[in-house]
Amino acid sequence: MTQTTTQAAGSAATGRGSGQPAAPAVEVRDLHVHYGDFEAVRGIDLEVRRGEIFALLGTNGAGKTTTLEVLEGFGQRSGGYVRVLGLDPATQRSALRERMGVQLQEGGFVDELTVVETLRLWQRMVDRTDRPERLLERFELTARRDVAVGKLSGGEKRRLDLAMAVWGSPELVILDEPTTGLDPESRRRTWDAIQELQEAGRTVVLTTHYLEEAEALADRVALMHAGRVAVQGTLGEILASRPAGFSATVPDGLGELPAVSGTVEREPIAGTDGGTRIRVRTTQLQRDLTGFLVWAADRGVQLTDLRAAPASLAEIYHGVRAGETEVE
Ligand code: ATP
Repeated sequence: MTQTTTQAAGSAATGRGSGQPAAPAVEVRDLHVHYGDFEAVRGIDLEVRRGEIFALLGTNGAGKTTTLEVLEGFGQRSGGYVRVLGLDPATQRSALRERMGVQLQEGGFVDELTVVETLRLWQRMVDRTDRPERLLERFELTARRDVAVGKLSGGEKRRLDLAMAVWGSPELVILDEPTTGLDPESRRRTWDAIQELQEAGRTVVLTTHYLEEAEALADRVALMHAGRVAVQGTLGEILASRPAGFSATVPDGLGELPAVSGTVEREPIAGTDGGTRIRVRTTQLQRDLTGFLVWAADRGVQLTDLRAAPASLAEIYHGVRAGETEVE
């Protein structure tokens, strides 16, 4: 989400030489996926633009992996329209394979092969050109190059998997929980690698349970719950549409609080000083906060613990999980 990134995304978003905007990297309309009688994905729409980093967030079992598997051509849809780089992954998977790198939630390695042997085998299997040494260095695996994959730690396997997904810098990279199990430094380096892909004009779709990861990386996010997309858009759009809040403690005996457009919670404070803690949730933060401050100033009240904050992705996530946010 840097300036360079935006420029790269802008150039990648234009069809080669045509002057026309390129088709989205991913288009999903009314996607349904069943496992037997169980409907894991219940009619979702997604659009990932060329050159962007798109994060799919959601509760456990929301249908994120199922959705990615359909995009990758590994999973069957039971209904809906899906195009990935303009191709239907259900019927054109081999053409797509050359242009797309995939990191699954659980990599399928041959445990007996060493790290470098695994990458060399990959070199023979994938049409895109790259060098094992570059990826060993990029993902801090140089010291582990001659270790059998079966003896790697979970985080090291994750990094090897990621190295294979980004091999040859494909047009689209799909990553299922790329940083799960990584230590903070490895996570940071993985973020750098994802941002480098974007700076090179590539598109990245990832799932994550780390909200801060989506905040740090993603141009746009979709939040899934129980097979549906609850909210989708840029973080700015999503947060602006949700109530912000402020809180303060007011002394007893001041009469009615000023009217606000949002909701007010009151919690009496026990103890000698007394007073009431108030929490206001509002989509009109500036107006309601101004009204409240004027009300306090008119009464000569010093608010020592006033706090105001915008909506956060974490609050939205918890709202979706608790069923407070309406799902599309
Ligand atoms: P998590 O965050 O826990 O990884 P997710 O959002 O990726 O979850 P999915 O793995 O897509 O969720 O699973 C969606 C639902 O479909 C879950 O209820 C899961 O149990 C179910 N499911 C997934 N794979 C299968 C399968 N092969 N057969 C039957 N049900 C399945």
